[in-house]
Amino acid sequence: MTDNTYFPVKPEVAQAAHVDEAAYARMYEQSVKDPEAFWGEHGKRLDWIKPYSKVKDVDYTGDVHIRWFYDGTLNVSANCIDRHLATRGDQTAIIFEGDDPSVSKHITYKDLHEQVCRLANVLKKNGVKKGDRVTIYLPMIPEAAYSMLACARIGAIHSVVFGGFSPDSLKDRIVDCDSHFVITSDEGLRGGRKVPLKANADKAVAGAPGVKHVLVVKHTGGDVAWTEGRDLWYHEEVASVSADCPPEEINAEDPLFILYTSGSTGKPKGVLHTSGGYLVYASMTHEYVFDYKPGEIYWCTADVGWVTGHSYIVYGPLANGATTLMFEGVPTYPDVSRFWQVVDKHKVNIFYTAPTAIRSLMREGEAPVKKTSRASLRVLGSVGEPINPEAWLWYYNVVGDARCPIVDTWWQTETGGILITPLIGAIGQKPGSATKPFFGVQPVVVDNEGTILDGETEGNLCIADSWPGQMRTVFGDHERFVQTYFSTFPGKYFTGDGCRRDADGYYWITGRVDDVINVSGHRMGTAEIESALVAHPKVAEAAVVGYPHDLKGQGIYAYVTLNAGETPSEELRKELVNWVRKEIGPIASPDLIQWAPGLPKTRSGKIMRRILRKIAANEHESLGDTSTLADPTVVTELIDNRMNQA
Ligand code: ATP
Ligand code: MG
Repeated sequence: MTDNTYFPVKPEVAQAAHVDEAAYARMYEQSVKDPEAFWGEHGKRLDWIKPYSKVKDVDYTGDVHIRWFYDGTLNVSANCIDRHLATRGDQTAIIFEGDDPSVSKHITYKDLHEQVCRLANVLKKNGVKKGDRVTIYLPMIPEAAYSMLACARIGAIHSVVFGGFSPDSLKDRIVDCDSHFVITSDEGLRGGRKVPLKANADKAVAGAPGVKHVLVVKHTGGDVAWTEGRDLWYHEEVASVSADCPPEEINAEDPLFILYTSGSTGKPKGVLHTSGGYLVYASMTHEYVFDYKPGEIYWCTADVGWVTGHSYIVYGPLANGATTLMFEGVPTYPDVSRFWQVVDKHKVNIFYTAPTAIRSLMREGEAPVKKTSRASLRVLGSVGEPINPEAWLWYYNVVGDARCPIVDTWWQTETGGILITPLIGAIGQKPGSATKPFFGVQPVVVDNEGTILDGETEGNLCIADSWPGQMRTVFGDHERFVQTYFSTFPGKYFTGDGCRRDADGYYWITGRVDDVINVSGHRMGTAEIESALVAHPKVAEAAVVGYPHDLKGQGIYAYVTLNAGETPSEELRKELVNWVRKEIGPIASPDLIQWAPGLPKTRSGKIMRRILRKIAANEHESLGDTSTLADPTVVTELIDNRMNQA
């Protein structure tokens, strides 16, 4: 449908970028022909305490083991901080932009060093040792980055839990990884509203008897309940210890962090990442994918509670000595121009966000964007879901003034870093396609029997061989790791996503395989139908699922959210059905359209289609794990309306 729109690499971009087309071809070929040599070379981008002599030891069969640089030792925090001190100690490492537009702060690499050393000493003083798990439940404030890096400095394993999660979800995550130390703040601030983090943590810890200490950042100054002996004030503790903490020597394969997936498809998994390979991959992808150049201001709008925040707010940028912006607030506060005001305020060069944010801002029209300059922007990025071409074009034309290439980056919590993406100097873009694999990544498309499909095709997306940033296990449940990722298609890593590869070898993620629908024998990705619906001028968002249909096997059930000011009508329903028919073909026309004032989303903003599938099939008694839903009332409303229809 959209294969015809093509945005070639501009010659001036190719010339200035880290790699052009020829370099990409050469490096990619080497990376897959001789991964040992390729990664052996690129692993040197880090400072190693004991250099590795072994590069790769991977077996995707049997018990499955994945090791990279495994006889080397290093310290992740020293790579993100100490090694920059001599050359850029006074450069800003982190720009903090508060929820309140009048609040911002610059933290230099020297400041960062002191803060992280102090906090690492606080952890040690309170009994946290190498290998212990520390749960971090903080707003988007610099202390979140300090906490991650302080754990890395002493070899403790952090588990960051998004500050939007409920006490119950927090409790489950504390208990699952048996962590004894929790870092939180009195309150968070989002869109001018206070979030009671300490109160939530208190409730969670009541059900997690293993927790010995709760370290509390004084952020808003709001009142908090206090448990003597257990609770500690962050500012008092860091003032009581030395500003120097030598980095621990850590094996490349020692764990760095656990992070729970967002739960779009089921119960969240405790994804475990290790130190050396992860950091090599995060820093290399950060430099090449965003074409980062020293001195540039880089902003990723994710929360540190997601993997995007780990790899592309904290670890990748800081390992590269970059200036990374941390934003506490939301795109719509104080008004819908906020993102672009922040871009202008800090002269942001590289901007990385999610389709859900772009779509919500697109609803508000061009004016709030156009009244800002955005002249500093050079590269735009997208992550988290397929970006529908409509939103891509708006991002490109309106936000980027048709000047900035867009990197649509496909990856997962499990992959540690970006796997499929354009490189701006090498790969022309097609809106809606994540384009081509990064170095060392070998995507394969297989049918349901596991047969590899060549050329232009569609099927299940697997990765044939390992890359250094790959997860190593599900924490405490290696069997689930093997089952989830290596049993469906033995010998390959199964991503759970479906994809199409076009005649130019570009990859188009069609959504999760579970979401692919089969209508009268035709397989269809939900992403394509949703894109068509969203392309209609009255539609803001759409989610498509299959439901049992007597004749077709599966019918197409579409949940549609209209733009502000539009009203549902039978006429509009027909118009939309015809619209999809015209855009894709009769086979794709929705059988049922339900008007949805809101869609069930994870707290990272992804549509939970598995819940919509249940509602469509009238199986609302068995919705499965809903603990990561952002707004549970949306579901009740959808069920009520479904029942009225039936
Ligand atoms: P869970 O695994 O618990 O169900 P999740 O898959 O939503 O949750 P994440 O690891 O945050 O957890 O998300 C990874 C998924 O997001 C990918 O498998 C893919 O479906 C989707 N995704 C991410 N980036 C893109 C992109 N650029 N294009 C298309 N899909 C994307
Ligand atoms: Mg997933």
